[in-house]
Amino acid sequence: LFDVQTALKSHILGHDKLATADRILRNCVHCGFCIAACPTYQVLGNELDSPRGRIYLIKNILEGGEVSLQTKKHLDRCLMCRGCETICPSGVEYYELLKLGKDVVSSHLALPLTTKIKQYLLRKFLTSGIIFNFMAKVRKLKSNVISSNNPQEDKVLLMGVCVQNALAPNINGATLKILQKLQLNVTVEENTCCGAIDFHLEGKNDALKKIKTNIKNWYQALQEDTGLIISNASGCGAMIKDYPKIVQNDPEVYAQASFVASRTLDIAEYLATKDLSIFKSERSGRIAYHSPCTMQHWQKINKVVEKILADLGFKLVEVADSNLCCGAAGTYAIMQPKIANKLKQQKLKNLTAGEPEEIVSANIGCILHLKSSSAVKVRHWVELLC
Ligand code: SF4
Ligand code: SF4
Repeated sequence: LFDVQTALKSHILGHDKLATADRILRNCVHCGFCIAACPTYQVLGNELDSPRGRIYLIKNILEGGEVSLQTKKHLDRCLMCRGCETICPSGVEYYELLKLGKDVVSSHLALPLTTKIKQYLLRKFLTSGIIFNFMAKVRKLKSNVISSNNPQEDKVLLMGVCVQNALAPNINGATLKILQKLQLNVTVEENTCCGAIDFHLEGKNDALKKIKTNIKNWYQALQEDTGLIISNASGCGAMIKDYPKIVQNDPEVYAQASFVASRTLDIAEYLATKDLSIFKSERSGRIAYHSPCTMQHWQKINKVVEKILADLGFKLVEVADSNLCCGAAGTYAIMQPKIANKLKQQKLKNLTAGEPEEIVSANIGCILHLKSSSAVKVRHWVELLC
């Protein structure tokens, strides 16, 4: 076996984090299998914009090397799609390492004022419950809240998603109809931020406040009469399932976070366990499905949506390079528009090669991003069932 040598410096990261970084770095055997699966390498063709290149950069700074603007540039260009983790034969936890590397970079390099302002405004705008709740109300799309005395499994909480009700209200509308047709009591939350936007835009303190509030509220609901939390935005579902790792240093919150994560399902995971024959009709539509990275690489939910749609009679077209990110990646399309646009164009080319009537996906970010340049209709797959 390839013996990976590391010489990490203890003053750069605390003991626990250093041990984690050391373990991850030693797992990487530098085979390079991940390079071809990396969207930024495909666009930029530079090894430093590949997983292996970024791992070298992080190892270098953890060993006391210079934290330069070049290092920051290559780490910031990472989409955090985790496609490299899916393909890695050694099980390298690239995302965990990247978070540690980015923390070190942030502590050494001050952001330019313009970037700080852009990130701050973006965080405040996109996570503003006031603005998006108001928009949803103006559009007369405020959620129906249905109360129920029935305990546990037949009562579910449909999680609110910051921008979704305001920008794509049909998604919650369709999800609600489906769950009600399955005789469930559904509570639809007001817009709630899962914390992902703050977490990935240098707003860790704000993110932690939101995350801890969510854990407390959802844990309480699950202790009372709610059986499950259902998410129809894979980006949020992925974040919630990552809560235990984020709060792992706080034992009490960690236990509650683990419980919340274990009771959170993507709508696809939930529907896959149900008899969906009532949704069957004469359907022959040609559909291209784009599986978000947060679905396939983060939550490892693969071929579930495809199976549901095929069982209901839809014809799914083949999509080349379906493992690659579309470029939306949270706020990446705003922070790195050139790369995001190239990835979007390539993704749309692949999605439309089989001449589908519609493109469907499972995350609001991907849907809005693809829709902005697509000649073919793009929407959430649950809308096909209504
Ligand atoms: S991350 Fe995995 S696939 Fe990539 S170089 Fe390291 S061991 Fe190989
Ligand atoms: S997370 Fe995605 S963009 Fe980042 S290195 Fe891995 S494959 Fe490349």
